[in-house]
Amino acid sequence: MAGHGPGGPTPYWKQMLLVILAIFVSSTFKLMPSVLTGRIIDEGLIGRDMNALIRLILLSLAVTLGANLIGVFESYLNSWIAQHITYDMRNSMYRHLQEMSQRFFTTNNQGDIITRMTSDIDGVQRVITNTLTDILSNSITLIVAVVVMYRQNWLLATLGILIVPLFVIPTRTAGRTRWSLTRESQECSDEINGILNETMSVSGQLLVKLFGREDREYERYRAANEKMINLNIRESMAGKWFMVILNTTSSVGPMLLYLAGGILMMRYNSDITVGDITVLVGLLGQMYRPVNQLLNIQVDWIRSMAMFTRIFEYYDMPAEIQNAPDAVIPDSTDGSVVFDHVEFYYEPDRQILKDVSFRLKSGDCVAIVGPSGSGKSTMINLIPRLYDAVSGTITFGGIDVKKLDLHFLRDHVGIVSQETYLFNGTIRDNLLYARSDATEQELIEACKKANIYDFISSQEKGLDTMVGNRGLKLSGGEKQRISIARVLLKDPALLIFDEATSALDSISEQKIQEAIEPLIQSRTSILIAHRLSTILAADEILVVSGGVIVERGSHAKLVKAGGVYTELYNTQFSKAAAADPDHSDYRVDNHIYPGDEY
Ligand code: ATP
Repeated sequence: MAGHGPGGPTPYWKQMLLVILAIFVSSTFKLMPSVLTGRIIDEGLIGRDMNALIRLILLSLAVTLGANLIGVFESYLNSWIAQHITYDMRNSMYRHLQEMSQRFFTTNNQGDIITRMTSDIDGVQRVITNTLTDILSNSITLIVAVVVMYRQNWLLATLGILIVPLFVIPTRTAGRTRWSLTRESQECSDEINGILNETMSVSGQLLVKLFGREDREYERYRAANEKMINLNIRESMAGKWFMVILNTTSSVGPMLLYLAGGILMMRYNSDITVGDITVLVGLLGQMYRPVNQLLNIQVDWIRSMAMFTRIFEYYDMPAEIQNAPDAVIPDSTDGSVVFDHVEFYYEPDRQILKDVSFRLKSGDCVAIVGPSGSGKSTMINLIPRLYDAVSGTITFGGIDVKKLDLHFLRDHVGIVSQETYLFNGTIRDNLLYARSDATEQELIEACKKANIYDFISSQEKGLDTMVGNRGLKLSGGEKQRISIARVLLKDPALLIFDEATSALDSISEQKIQEAIEPLIQSRTSILIAHRLSTILAADEILVVSGGVIVERGSHAKLVKAGGVYTELYNTQFSKAAAADPDHSDYRVDNHIYPGDEY
């Protein structure tokens, strides 16, 4: 079941046919002892035939054993098919979700994605293991039972069937109550999971602590928990009342058959035998369970359909960013980038980038500066195609990114993002994520370049130090330097560095600076810069405001222009300059400007 969705012919049809056959045989076999009981009574006991009695008893035992053995085989096959179908579904869904764009993940609730991947798919598996086989085996049992009953005695068979509605009515009512309770408790459990998800995550519990919301969160959790137990109690009690009703009504049926059979035998001299009546009572007893289950299946069915719908909703979402069918894989790339009249929006009613054009030559470095929310990160996200430009073109190494092989493109673009993400593992695991075949020497080399090697070697376990959940055992600066080392291992043709806006202490900042400066000298790079020293390392500065490149040029030219850059310089960058004695003469109000060599 490769590709998108579990559609198409199932590859397990042979196993399915075998299951159907097994269900048919075992359901029929299970009814046989009831029929044989009639003959045991009539031929063996009443007919006083010892041989027949033993033969029939042995046959009955053998049939029961056979039915159960086939039942075991059937359950094995059944769970085999169900597990394989869910295995395929999980894998293909994972693959499908991997193809989903960044937009999908920023829009959808993470908990929702996980629920669909886990409990919804489990639900589908339950449908296959229980619901479908229940429908099959119960229908077969019912049909066989009715046929055999009519062959025994049509009059009593009709009477038996007329009794069925007696227990159909209470079953349906109880089923409906249980269904609505189940749904309520499902919602309640979603709510509980939501609370746990929010408050037990690293950032969530930090927020709870810092805002002193412990008691209120506890109360919220406790209340949901209480609602849950009440629902569970009601649900289990609905089941109990249901059993009382069912047990009473189901004992009425056999009594009626005995009575009717007795009347036929004694009053009307019918040729019906004691054995016949016993068989009919036995078969009627065997009909209760299937009728009951078939009635409840409707409930399961509705619930399963809801799960199927949720899963298929994801399958039906097309992958927004796809490899072009004739995607180009060049031998190499120089990492140059050209934006040509690029327009972009996340939502059509709010344009983010307007007519953005710039050229980054191979080996050069541009710095993008601008107020928060002006669209800087959005611009760089378009290069590795996390999103596609709405109009205009972006070329990488001279080729339109939409025509380039996605793997090739992403392999050659390295991004150090503002928010560093590290997996819970060792520093080594996180570095090897970029290139699993990197040698120890290469790892050390990358760490040295990223200015993190001293820290790593000061740790008792060195590269094997655990970074903690999302790397939270490390400081922001350490995490960022590890992520620089990780990108260096990848050795991309274009390096994009989204400088953290969050405050790092000046030592960390300086260490990052020392790491990044030689890197951008030696390769094509784009910097989203918030600090003067980073900006000064660039060949060209692009000033973005409201999604438009409003100014461009060198620091010396821009700082004098009296526009957005001058303002940014005075409000943001000059603080860093003031703190740095080497750069303190850059302040605009000193009217001393750095030369073009910057
Ligand atoms: P900062 O310097 O604060 O990181 P930025 O210049 O990098 O800001 P962007 O992250 O590119 O700004 O965001 C530009 C605009 O796009 C913002 O107004 C933001 O609200 C909006 N935006 C960003 N990401 C999304 C998204 N996934 N969906 C919808 N709108 C978004």
